[in-house]
Amino acid sequence: MRPATIDKHPEAMPVKPNWPDDAEAAAGFSWEIAARELARLPGGGLNLAHEAVDRHAQGAWREHVALCLLARAGGRREVSYAELSRLSNRFANVLLRLGLSRGDRVFVLCERGLELYLAVLGALKNGCVVTPLFAAFGPEPLETRLRLGECRLLVTSRSLYRRKVAGLRGRLPTLERVLVYGGEGEPPPQDGTLDLQPLLDEASEDFAVVPCDEDTPSLLHFTSGTTGTPKGALHVHGAALMHYITGKYALDLHPDDIYWCTADPGWVTGTSYGILAPLMLGVTSLVDAGDFDAARWYATLERERVSVWYTAPTAIRMLMRAGPELARRHRFPQLRFVASVGEPLNPEAVWWGQDVLGLPIHDNWWQTETGGIMIANTLAMPIKPGSMGKPLPGIEAAIVRVKGDGSLERLGDDQLGELALGQPWPGMFRTYLGQEERYRRCFVGDWYLSGDLARRDVDGYYWFVGRSDDVIKSAGHLIGPFEVESALLEHPAVADAAVIGKPDELLGERVKAFVALNPGFSPGDALRDELLGHARLRLGAAVAPKELDFLPSLPHTRSGKTLRRLLKARELGLPEGDTSTLENPL
Ligand code: ATP
Ligand code: MG
Repeated sequence: MRPATIDKHPEAMPVKPNWPDDAEAAAGFSWEIAARELARLPGGGLNLAHEAVDRHAQGAWREHVALCLLARAGGRREVSYAELSRLSNRFANVLLRLGLSRGDRVFVLCERGLELYLAVLGALKNGCVVTPLFAAFGPEPLETRLRLGECRLLVTSRSLYRRKVAGLRGRLPTLERVLVYGGEGEPPPQDGTLDLQPLLDEASEDFAVVPCDEDTPSLLHFTSGTTGTPKGALHVHGAALMHYITGKYALDLHPDDIYWCTADPGWVTGTSYGILAPLMLGVTSLVDAGDFDAARWYATLERERVSVWYTAPTAIRMLMRAGPELARRHRFPQLRFVASVGEPLNPEAVWWGQDVLGLPIHDNWWQTETGGIMIANTLAMPIKPGSMGKPLPGIEAAIVRVKGDGSLERLGDDQLGELALGQPWPGMFRTYLGQEERYRRCFVGDWYLSGDLARRDVDGYYWFVGRSDDVIKSAGHLIGPFEVESALLEHPAVADAAVIGKPDELLGERVKAFVALNPGFSPGDALRDELLGHARLRLGAAVAPKELDFLPSLPHTRSGKTLRRLLKARELGLPEGDTSTLENPL
């Protein structure tokens, strides 16, 4: 049996943690004091891109490497803070010249590479509202988002334009300009597009960053679409404080770190923690254009001497599936902190980190709506594998129940309820685009309701139970899919698991599991019985699945979340709903 807690020894760590995790420090924290750490513009205004780039580019850190860009084809390019500042200034000047200004919507459909950073940072400098999109999106999800977001200008590669955007132009009345780049061997600029490179070449390297304030819109992010149609969450420049503080305390970023966030900026993690927060903390960020590949990822961690790594449970489970032998061919002496977000991290995965990487994996929790990490296992605190950790300094969390009269009841330790956050906090979203009423429904008094069910233990750690839509009611029990999936994932045959509730006359709902197997295991009745037996032993008969199906792989969103609602719709023969964020449609 593994112990319930992984203790920490901060005094023996190679770098002193930014957050000491002691009650005294927590009590002394205030956003007002923390805000003094922001650089701010000379006239006192605030701008995310200034906090991220120019504050370093104008100081002693100017020649430090901001980005280390790894191309798909194997090339490698380093960009300093000074260069990133100059290039993003050029981009901002291009936007200005094209008549875009404060509040105008700019969409970015780019592979992970330099253009993506220039477009996002340049647009922010110019006061525009930016939306990074997944380059892998097909025309339909693109159209929906460009339309809802009333995009005025799109930045994309020639090849993505030709394959995905050209056919949509007639249906997007607000889209005035498309800037295209790259694509050797591609035909010259197509009709209705402008070539980005000559415009950048002609533009000045000097730009007066547009002064914004805490409430000025900055980014429009679409949610992952796990529970339904993706929502457009609008964020503000005030999120700079949140990005800075969470980058410092939850990810423990220090300026000398080599940091790798594996998320794509089409998903909020890839922007908040793939672009903004690491730059704010002055680190070197690794930007990998390639897709997941276990062998290449291990080699990259080792060769690039990554010290802080932020990834997701699905990726970790894929590395686990690739087997420990592959990992053992590499050494990671520089790696000092590994964190994960996006889905519940099963205890087996936390321990896998300890066994294979030499470090446990630190789960943390947040949402597109929160704009930044809210609850985390930080570097200095003991980890309880399976728990999301504790609220960060400045964040108030509670477990609540909405009463019949619409008011909230705060629940005590170990009680199951909805995870709520005290509002406001600096990075919070300001609306769901076009869905003001839905936005307002997220709030009751001083609290924001997350839609996730959780428990808090006596030590103040939060434990994810499930999304309120995914929780199964069976014979009077409330069953969280995560608990059941974690138990299945303990079995050596299981690589990935998802659990749903099926209507049942007697029980209300019956627990059904879907699993994908590790290499070397084959589906069959004997293995099914073994897995059901294992789950019964671990969970008891009332909670364990009654049915289990094998699938070659489970459906995930592009941000790596298990699409349980799709499994359920397929199982019950219902319409599949919005599948725009589905990766590798089955
Ligand atoms: P949609 O809102 O469109 O259904 P989504 O909620 O998956 O999609 P995101 O904002 O990308 O969109 O994801 C946030 C959600 O991801 C959280 O509400 C939670 O359900 C889940 N999540 C994130 N981190 C964790 C974590 N550490 N443990 C458990 N669940 C997590
Ligand atoms: Mg959500």
